[in-house]
Amino acid sequence: MNPLANISVQFVKGVGPARAKLFSNLGIENIEDLLYFFPRRYEDRRNITPIKQLKLGEWQTVTGKILNFDARRSWFTKKHVTEIFIDDGTGRIACVWFNQPYLNRYFKPDKKIVCYGKLDLYKNRLQMVSPEYEVIESEEDDSLSLNRIVPLYPLTRGMTHRFLRKVVRACLDKFKNQISDELPVSLRNKLRLPNIKRCIEEIHYPPDDKAQEESMRRISFEEFYFFQVAIMLRRQSITQKKGVSHKIGDISILNFINGFPFTLTQAQKKVIREIREDMQKETPMLRLLQGDVGCGKTLVALFGCLAAFENGCQSALMAPTEILARQHYDNIVNLIENGPLKGMRAALLISGLKKKDKDELYQKIAGGDIDLVIGTHALLSESVVFKNLSYVVIDEQHKFGVRQRALLTEKGKNPDVLIMTATPIPRTLCITLYGDLDISIIDEIPPGRGKIETRLFDDEKSSEVYDLVKSKLKEGRQAYIVYPIIEESEQTDLKAAEQMYKKFKKDEFKDYCVGLIHGRLKEEETESLMQRFKNKEIDVLVSTTVLEVGVDVPNATVMVIEHAERFGLSQLHQLRGRIGRGEYASECLLIADVATPEAQHRLKAILSTTDGFEIAKQDLLLRGPGHYFGRHQHGLNELKVANPATQLDILELARNEALELMREDAKLEKEEHRMIRQIVQRRYPTYLAMAKAG
Ligand code: ADP
Ligand code: MG
Repeated sequence: MNPLANISVQFVKGVGPARAKLFSNLGIENIEDLLYFFPRRYEDRRNITPIKQLKLGEWQTVTGKILNFDARRSWFTKKHVTEIFIDDGTGRIACVWFNQPYLNRYFKPDKKIVCYGKLDLYKNRLQMVSPEYEVIESEEDDSLSLNRIVPLYPLTRGMTHRFLRKVVRACLDKFKNQISDELPVSLRNKLRLPNIKRCIEEIHYPPDDKAQEESMRRISFEEFYFFQVAIMLRRQSITQKKGVSHKIGDISILNFINGFPFTLTQAQKKVIREIREDMQKETPMLRLLQGDVGCGKTLVALFGCLAAFENGCQSALMAPTEILARQHYDNIVNLIENGPLKGMRAALLISGLKKKDKDELYQKIAGGDIDLVIGTHALLSESVVFKNLSYVVIDEQHKFGVRQRALLTEKGKNPDVLIMTATPIPRTLCITLYGDLDISIIDEIPPGRGKIETRLFDDEKSSEVYDLVKSKLKEGRQAYIVYPIIEESEQTDLKAAEQMYKKFKKDEFKDYCVGLIHGRLKEEETESLMQRFKNKEIDVLVSTTVLEVGVDVPNATVMVIEHAERFGLSQLHQLRGRIGRGEYASECLLIADVATPEAQHRLKAILSTTDGFEIAKQDLLLRGPGHYFGRHQHGLNELKVANPATQLDILELARNEALELMREDAKLEKEEHRMIRQIVQRRYPTYLAMAKAG
C-alpha cells in the first residue's frame, strides 16, 4: 500500500474534517488522491494582455479593477443580469452574467479580478459574456494566482480556485518528499524519465509549458505501462482456461440467417462467422462487439445463443436497464415464435418479479428448463445458478464494471463471452483499454433507414422549434424533448424537464398527449410510459438522459435537445440514435447557448457528422478518456491522466515495454518483477483478481 493513500486529506493545512467533505465530492479522500488531482487547464498569467491590446472574438484572460457593478432584470428577456466593468489603466471592458444572482455577493468595486472569456463587441462596447472569474483578495495572499502559470482545477460548490491552489501547495510542501517512484529503476534509467517528485510538483505549478508537458508525459507513461501489464496478465490467464467447444454446422448458420424477414448486412454476417469460429474453440471467447446504435448487434449476439442451445447448453443476456431487458425479451420471444430461434425456451429475470415467480424461475434455470435468460443486474444474484451456462452476452458494456462482468461469467465454466457496446471506441483507445479482448465491428447500418438532419437553434428561437415539432406530430409522428436535469434550481435558468412538461401540456402541445420520464421514477412507471409511447398513446415524450440507451421506437422521428451545450459529445450522439430508426426522415433539433469554446467544438462535431466513430474520436480529443463515458460510468476510469488520442507515441512506448516484460517473465515471478505485480494488483485489483481466479 502506498503510505500517502493512508493519510486523510483533512491533515493538509487549511482542510480539516469539515472541508474534507468538500474534497470527498471531488473524489479526493487522501493525500495521494490530492497529489494526483491534476488541473483541468492552465492560465498563463505571467504576461497578461492589456485591455487595449485584446483581440475581438478570441478567448483571453484579462485582469484589472472592478469599476462599478450593476444587477438588474432585463425588461426584454426577463433574465437577471449581473454586469461589471473592468479597468486595467489601458482600457475597460464589460463582463456580463445572466441568471446568476448569487454573483452579486462576490463583486465589490475596487477589488482586483481576473476573467477568462471571449471578447465581443456588443452595441459598440467591448464585453465578455459569462466569463470565468476570480476575485483576488490581496496580492500577497493570492501569489499563487498571479504572475505565473496558474492551475485551474475542477471545482465543487463551495470551493474556490484560490482555496484549492493553497491546499495543493501546502500538500506539496508537506508531502512531496514522500512520493515514491513506482516504475522500476532499470526502466527509468533506460528511458531517462524525470523524477516523479518533480513531475507531480510541476504538473500543479509548472515553471513553463515545457516542464508541464514533460511531467505529464512521464505520468501518462507510468499509467499506460501498469495498465498494459494488467491487461496482458488478464489476457494470458483467459487463454489458459478451458471452456466448451461448441459444434456449429453450416446448416444451422444458414437457417439462422434465413430466418429473418430481412437480409443481414455483410458486416453482420462477418461477425457471425467470427463468433462461430471463437465458439468452436475450447479456449473461451472474449470478444467486444462494437457498432453504432441501430446497426443490429443484438441479432448477431443471438446467434451465439442458438449455438449454445444446439449444443445442449444455456446462455444469458444482461442489459443495463429493465426497459432494455424487456425489449430484448420481446424481440426474442418473437424470434422463437417465428423461426430463427425455434425450440428455445427463454425467460426474463428482473428484480421486480414476485418472489414466488422468481423462485420458480431460479429452479428452472438450475434444472436446465430454460435455455436463454434475459435480465438486468438481477442475473448477478447468488440465487441464480445455471445448469450449464456456456455463452454470455453483455449489452452496453460501459454501464457495467469489470467485476460485474466477472460475476456473471463465473456462473458458467469458462463460458464464451460477447460484450456489446454502442459507444464506438476508436482503435487506439480500444487497444489500450481492451487489449485483452478480440474486437468485432459492425460498420454498416441496415438499408432503408431514413436520414437524420441535425440543426442548431438559439434559445430565443425555441418557439420556432416547437412549431416544427407540431408539424411532425400533425403528420402522425412522435417526438422526444430532452433536458439535462429534472427540477429547475434557483441558481440556473436551465429549463428543466418537469417544468417544461407542465408548460407543454397547457400550452404548446395541449392538443397532444405529453409524457414525462426521468431517473427518479420507479422502474415500472418508466416501463409503462415507454410502453405507452411505443403504442403511440403518447405523442411527445419529455425526458432527461435516461433515454440515452437502446430504446427503439421507429415512429419517433423528432428529437429536441435543450441546453445541448450541457451534454457530452458521445451523449448527444447516443441520444440522437433514438431517432432515425424507421423509414421516415428524422430531425434532431438542438437548442443551445454556446458559452464556451469546448461547447462550440462539441456542437460543431455533432452537426457535421452522424458517424459514431468520428464522433468518438472527436470526443476523445476534446475530453480525454476519463470523461469519455461520463464520470460515473465504468470502463475508462482506469486511466486518469493518460489520453490515448493525443499520446499515441507514449502509449506505444509503454505497450512495447510491457510486452518486453511479459516476454521475459510472463507471470512476473522473478524477484525484481514482484514489485510490479504488487503495484498492478493495487492499482487494478479487479483485473488481477480475475487473472488469479482463472
Ligand atoms: P443495436 O443493438 O445495434 O442498436 P438492434 O439490434 O436493436 O441494434 O437493431 C435495431 C433494429 O434493426 C431492430 O429492430 C432489428 O430487428 C433491425 N435490424 C437488425 N438487422 C437488420 C437488417 N440487416 N436489416 C433490417 N433491419 C435490421
Ligand atoms: Mg442494442
